[in-house]
Amino acid sequence: MSAPVAGLHHVTAYAHDPQQNLDFYTGVLGLRLVKQTVLFNNPSAAFQAPTMYHFYYADETGTPGSVLTFKPHHSIQKGQVGRGQATATALTIPEGAVEFWTDRLREAASATLYPPTQRFGRTVLPFQDPDGQPLELIAGTSDIAPWTDGPVPPEHAVRGIHGVTLHPNNAQQTAAVLQLLGYEQVDHAPTPQDGDWTRFRVPGPEHAQFVDLYNEPNMHEGRWGYGTVHHVAFRATDDEHQRALRQRLRDAGHTPTTVKDRNYFHSIYFREPNGVNIEIATDPPGFLHDEPVDELGRTLKLPPFLQDRREQVEAQLTDISL
Ligand code: ZN
Repeated sequence: MSAPVAGLHHVTAYAHDPQQNLDFYTGVLGLRLVKQTVLFNNPSAAFQAPTMYHFYYADETGTPGSVLTFKPHHSIQKGQVGRGQATATALTIPEGAVEFWTDRLREAASATLYPPTQRFGRTVLPFQDPDGQPLELIAGTSDIAPWTDGPVPPEHAVRGIHGVTLHPNNAQQTAAVLQLLGYEQVDHAPTPQDGDWTRFRVPGPEHAQFVDLYNEPNMHEGRWGYGTVHHVAFRATDDEHQRALRQRLRDAGHTPTTVKDRNYFHSIYFREPNGVNIEIATDPPGFLHDEPVDELGRTLKLPPFLQDRREQVEAQLTDISL
């Protein structure tokens, strides 16, 4: 049996306006923009300049498990959060930072803040980003260091991903997928509505360890669009680990893709039986492989096959200011 996944690598969502997305995740949440690039899905297709940015927000260096990524574009319609999706992404904040963040999010016109709640013994601060994407800040410990050069004082700063909530139609099927990836069920609790949460944890580093399955039968079906998560990515420590996980998935009847080169990691994808898109991404080569740590995110980076067409690509993108 190959090693379990090493927690979550990143979560990717759709957004509507690139500038609004940047302003919120760097200016309000205080994450670092560690990479601005474009969507580059199919290098072999007849060339069409990509028109969509791909932004990566993280800690100082883009540590796997601290990364939120966005595909922002004005042509994307509004999505609906619901069954068959990842319905909330949670970030860790220090134990003493709940009041700080309550005030900060209440003052941010672009955020919608909800009353704090408790889940599995921890304080949860639920809110929505400007596109209506559900997020949570959860007070706890994390081995991700705060970014010391952002707008949020380091003692309150976000410490990476805490976990995600998935809302499958059939929680047992999705639980089996998580167990295949090495997760163990660690807790169970009723929801304030008519359902329940089951918490899964994977051994390993103390960040991005949790997946909660939310089972609330009356919730409507999700529909993709801005304000919704496109996929959640789990961590493989290297290519060999990814190969072993891919084989394990195939042996269990899943149909993962071949390995795709995403420039900053290598990825395979599959859709679990309830429709949640899942990726397994490698730690290497990482975000420092095409720019030094001091310069991360400052300029548009393109993969090798687009570099000689930079002018054409830039002409397709809306202007942003950092
Ligand atoms: Zn991804």
